[in-house]
Amino acid sequence: MKPYILEETNWKQVKSQKYEVAILPWGATEPHNFHLPYGTDSLETAKIAREAAAKAWEQGAKVMVLPVIPLGVQNLGQIDLPFCLHTRPSTQKRILEDIIKALNGQGIKKLVIMNGHGGNDFKPLVRELQPQFPDMLLVLNEWFKMLDLTEYFEDTGDHAGEMETCVIMHYFPGLVLPLYEAGEGKAKNFKLNSLKNKTGWAPRQWNKVSEDTGVGNPKKANAAKGKRFLEDVTNSIATLFVELAKADLNDLYEE
Ligand SMILES: [Zn+2]
Repeated sequence: MKPYILEETNWKQVKSQKYEVAILPWGATEPHNFHLPYGTDSLETAKIAREAAAKAWEQGAKVMVLPVIPLGVQNLGQIDLPFCLHTRPSTQKRILEDIIKALNGQGIKKLVIMNGHGGNDFKPLVRELQPQFPDMLLVLNEWFKMLDLTEYFEDTGDHAGEMETCVIMHYFPGLVLPLYEAGEGKAKNFKLNSLKNKTGWAPRQWNKVSEDTGVGNPKKANAAKGKRFLEDVTNSIATLFVELAKADLNDLYEE
């Protein structure tokens, strides 16, 4: 029973603590090459949130990890695959708004949204909602963008590649198929040079980009790489939680 994991704790515990920071992990539900579970983004992000919260709690930070939201924004082509759950950004905004409203009324004024899915874009949602809740601090963390992935992985991958496979191998070894079952995650680029060199951006039609739904080769993944990466990720996020728990919301800026 952990006092910083909402799904596992109880009212008796909660009413005896003054919680400072709520943490909302947000993932997606979609195919991840052949070898990783549909829940990869949700499982990874919830587990990272819990590990970081454990480290922060040990340092005295009163944090609470909320249940993960498994509803992500998906690309065309991926949407058509069975059980891929696409959620519109406007729906995500409503979910987020309801959660912020509840926390605000309960006096919990600091919220960290932890995103674990590349298709989710919370910055515009935070920018839209922040003015409605001026006395709250809304913080976004994207753990997969925090560190230089090339220092940890040979082929970092974009979706179900080496990085994500290493993370699941370390945290959930029972949920990964043997790597010989995995596709190579070969991704086709746009023909247009301007889209290739990122002068212009367009969402990719997933079934035209990848045959196994993966983008990035998972074949060199192992649990040890995941462990090393996640140690650094959760340490940095724990520091974020500790700083936020201590922070005075009326005194956030340097002199
Ligand atoms: Zn993923």
